[in-house]
Amino acid sequence: FEIADFPTFLGDLRQMYDATWNENEGITTNYTQYLNEYHADDAWGVSFCSVDGQRCGFGSKTKMFTMQALMNPFLYAMSLDELGHEKIHSIVGQETSGGQYNVIKLDDQGRPHNPMGNAGAILLASLYKDDLNKSDRHESFLDKMRQISGIQSVDESSVSFDYAAFMSEREVCHRNSSISYYLREKGCIDNKKNVEHVLDVYTQMCNVTVNTDSLSVLAATLANGGICPITGTQQLSNDSVKSTLSCMLAAGMNDHSGIWAFQVGLPAKSGVTGGTMIIIPNFGGFALYSPKIDKSANSVRAAKFAHLLNEKFHLHEYDPV
Ligand code: GLN
Repeated sequence: FEIADFPTFLGDLRQMYDATWNENEGITTNYTQYLNEYHADDAWGVSFCSVDGQRCGFGSKTKMFTMQALMNPFLYAMSLDELGHEKIHSIVGQETSGGQYNVIKLDDQGRPHNPMGNAGAILLASLYKDDLNKSDRHESFLDKMRQISGIQSVDESSVSFDYAAFMSEREVCHRNSSISYYLREKGCIDNKKNVEHVLDVYTQMCNVTVNTDSLSVLAATLANGGICPITGTQQLSNDSVKSTLSCMLAAGMNDHSGIWAFQVGLPAKSGVTGGTMIIIPNFGGFALYSPKIDKSANSVRAAKFAHLLNEKFHLHEYDPV
């Protein structure tokens, strides 16, 4: 598959990028002093990577930011590959929680509702390579993210880790700490595990950094059934990616996922620092970054951009109906 007229496509995207600049609503994440200062500038970056490796980007496309919940779909896909669908879905559900991304709530089978919210992601982080020590788990996760992004062909530093952001989040992650102890109380995290240790593994994963250029390749790997379009290597299995995209459509945009499915109709995931991935299966992945977020913790500019994208290209899953 190739986008036949790439320059025209690029021109259309440029127009949408420019048209979204004026969108100034929302507030930046300020739960740590570090993030508050980091996001003070009004960055707006958009990058695209096709399943064929055709790429483009606009604005703050090289500005690094912490992934936060943007890592959740990858952690989920890796967990499925490692432990299998049956095991993973015996411990985490496939429905929306009906609450905010960091709600302290389990479903009626005693599982986190899905792997896209904090509770599900913390639980999956507790299992991730749990035979390794903490630093090796971190290294292994970062390394896998770099492979999925085809880093060796891109730029070594474009998938990295922000130690200062990690340390500042670690000091104030009381909600996530509560979720973790609740998971422990309910037996989701087993007694042999050290809850503080689990929390560190999860918080480290959240503070892996990307820019929209590298994130667009991560997104395109999902669009491409798990094969990185830059290196041509199968990084995640086809089945796991299918489940991941389903889960992103159902729950990727937090408590706005239902409306998103109606209006945009594409699998997507947001992070609280203002990053967004939008996946167009078998076509490509968009990565967007703008730190001002709405009450559902989704980037305001990203939502506007998604609407313009759909107006122009009719990408909604059911548009051809
Ligand atoms: N680290 C963030 C948190 O736990 C991740 C959540 C998000 O990005 N939606 O609050």
